Amino acid sequence: MRFDELATPCYVVDEGLIQRNLSILQGVTERTGARVLLAQKAFSMYALYPMIGMYLCGATASGLYEARLGAEEMVRPLELRGKRCENHVFSPAYRQEDFAEILKYCDHIVFNSWRQVEKFAADAKAAGRSVGLRVNPECSTQEGHAIYDPCAPGSRMGVTREEFAAGLFEGEGEGSPFALLDGLHFHTLCEQDSDDLEKTLDAVEEKFGAYLSAMKWINFGGGHHITRQGYDMPRLERCIKRMQDKYGLTVYLEPGEAVALNAGFLAASVLEVRPTAASGTGSLPYGLQTVILDTSAACHMPDVLEMPYRPPLQGSGQPGEKAYTYRLGGPTCLAGDVIGDYSFDMPLQEGDRLVFEDMAIYSMVKNNTFNGMPLPAIALKRKSGECEIIREFGYGDFKGRL
Ligand SMILES: *Cc1c(COP(=O)(O)O)cnc(C)c1O
Repeated sequence: MRFDELATPCYVVDEGLIQRNLSILQGVTERTGARVLLAQKAFSMYALYPMIGMYLCGATASGLYEARLGAEEMVRPLELRGKRCENHVFSPAYRQEDFAEILKYCDHIVFNSWRQVEKFAADAKAAGRSVGLRVNPECSTQEGHAIYDPCAPGSRMGVTREEFAAGLFEGEGEGSPFALLDGLHFHTLCEQDSDDLEKTLDAVEEKFGAYLSAMKWINFGGGHHITRQGYDMPRLERCIKRMQDKYGLTVYLEPGEAVALNAGFLAASVLEVRPTAASGTGSLPYGLQTVILDTSAACHMPDVLEMPYRPPLQGSGQPGEKAYTYRLGGPTCLAGDVIGDYSFDMPLQEGDRLVFEDMAIYSMVKNNTFNGMPLPAIALKRKSGECEIIREFGYGDFKGRL
């Protein structure tokens, strides 16, 4: 099937574009020895895990289900091809009843507090797993996206220097919580460049440097926009080398976005174009009409409302830039289910196809069936240009969750 023949709405992930990102990430490993993992929470299209596992060193999970998915769909298939992939997990708090299964799937278990270390780490060590503690370097480097800032005041993510030191009251000797640690983990970035990583690393060293030589590894978390045009790669590699040379650490990176950045689309169709100006828009310097699509911001691209951001749309301009401007909305009953205002050279008509870009990440992992909205199908565009439907959804997927 060709791209234009896919029924809408449909997420289409481009194999060649994913591969391009993977090659860039693999380059980091080849040049520095740093180990790069897929953060599944951004992109869990497991049909591609066997390919991803050929380029990266494994996967990381936010809990039991992602850990199991990584084990089943990346670690096992790659094992059959003779390549060993690692499976990591971090959770703000593990459930007692899940932990034995987590131990079965994961090589690295990262904890969020001393209490969690005390509760679970001895079992993890007994099972031969590597144990880490997430730290909070209290170094905010992002403006605007407060909900994505784990260093914001009151954050529940990671252990501050003060908490870290308080946890050493039982000493650093054998059997103490500290002695159970193999590594430290931090995750403080979101869509950022390596200058912010460097600043964060300075804070990590200042606050936790005294403990680093006792560790085997350090995990730089995700949020590294490594595959974005213009990313400062040499600075990233200097950061990695610094931890390797100074403390003898193995360095892990666990990007999510960077793996599938700009590698997917959401194809949609116009259901209706209202002939009159949208209400209350008369004072705008351009006409603005309402368009209803067969895709929803709230259901199919929730980050558009949550983050929020305006997704790129092929062939469109800013409002008023091109001759015809429309407010594109979804078919749910939420008044704010609006993707954004976009302009076009030609008037839109019922049945026209629109293609939103950068829709591989944080889209299919976060979508929902609010209002009984159907879920978009998931398709893979092969390098030949041929499109293959990977999954389709129906009424049963809506009903089955309720
Ligand atoms: C979200 C997250 C990631 C991935 O972040 P991206 O911004 O998608 O690169 C990695 N590690 C942890 C612990 C996370 O919470």
